[in-house]
Amino acid sequence: MLVEKSRYRLLCPTCELQIIDDGTVTHCSVEHRRSLLRTEYDERSFRIDRTTQGMLRYRAWLPLREEVETDFGTVILKSEALNAHLKTPNLYLAVNGFWPERGARLPSGTFKDIEAIAILGRFPRDGRTLVAASAGNTAVALAGAASIYGVPTVIIVPESALPRILFARAPAENVRFIVVTGNAIYDDAIIAARELGTHEGHVFEGGAQNVARRDGIGTTIAAYMENVGALPEYFVQAVGSGSGAIAAHEAARRAIASGAFGTKFPHLVLVQNAPFAPIFHAWAAGSNSVEAAHRPESAYLAGAEISAAVLGSLAPPYDPQGGLLDALTESAGDVTAVENAAARTAAALFEEIEGVDLDPAAAVALAGLIERLESGAIPRDASIALHITGVGRRRLARDRHIVPNIAARIDSKRA
Ligand SMILES: [Zn+2]
Repeated sequence: MLVEKSRYRLLCPTCELQIIDDGTVTHCSVEHRRSLLRTEYDERSFRIDRTTQGMLRYRAWLPLREEVETDFGTVILKSEALNAHLKTPNLYLAVNGFWPERGARLPSGTFKDIEAIAILGRFPRDGRTLVAASAGNTAVALAGAASIYGVPTVIIVPESALPRILFARAPAENVRFIVVTGNAIYDDAIIAARELGTHEGHVFEGGAQNVARRDGIGTTIAAYMENVGALPEYFVQAVGSGSGAIAAHEAARRAIASGAFGTKFPHLVLVQNAPFAPIFHAWAAGSNSVEAAHRPESAYLAGAEISAAVLGSLAPPYDPQGGLLDALTESAGDVTAVENAAARTAAALFEEIEGVDLDPAAAVALAGLIERLESGAIPRDASIALHITGVGRRRLARDRHIVPNIAARIDSKRA
């Protein structure tokens, strides 16, 4: 099936420069403060492609330039038992994961499969190599998708993430892994990926700067809009890099601009995993900078253990124009942090009620929602979307035994 290319431009929110995308642009060409480019689609109305399933139903708002075919998508559902327990009649779960009884069949068990399809749908298939960094979930999702589409791909991971990178089917030859050793963390993998991306024939995918990654996750909001017929009043999710939260806000902006979804942004309620919570500290301190509000690196390197390792990014896009701080401010949002024990309690509650295992990040989000409900910050009768960013991996893990083929090891010099 040939996918009709979507028509869009990239827009710089700082200087309003409009850029024709070649599938790899991640930055404005003008010298000014850091900014996240965003997409501007010719299609302004919320158009659903009813000939297909999943994320591609919202392809008019995806920057697709190459053929992709998938039924991956977000499942919007109500857990009646959870809603009864929390006394939240209008709580919907936006489920990205593996929960086949409820229609969710993402092979990595996380939202990263949706990101991966969007990234590969935008990246030019001209022989250049896509370079990405991962703390685990992206590696599994991107390796699977890049194997299907034959896109040359290098995935750089910190050594500590290797135990989380297992496959049911070996990735194809066009997918290679590079491991950063020496106490490396996710941010070291990003630095290495950025460096490799400057080499001839290689392109760094861009992380949170990649509009495809963000608009891919924006389909989670689109799925909510299609199913519920409105935007939620509150959108709750765990944040590490924060690109998912920015993506939700950008999707809401498109919905509002369409004229059919009111004028109010969903309040972003972002949840971090204490004690490593740089976004929480920056927001609570009213700081413009994650680094100034907190010295997260020292806490991180001192061995501060958090249950949701994927949330442990030191350098989220907090202060760029169009970044997390702007999204939180514009949506009258809030950031909270929960301890490991609260996340474990939330995961146990969900498993008891629904019989399926939440990913640590999703457990952090649920714990944050419970805390905000109990404090009264979120009214129990509000319309709430809780982004379940990963679920059901225990079952997937039973079939995953193949370790990645490591092409090279590099040292982070952090040891
Ligand atoms: Zn600009």
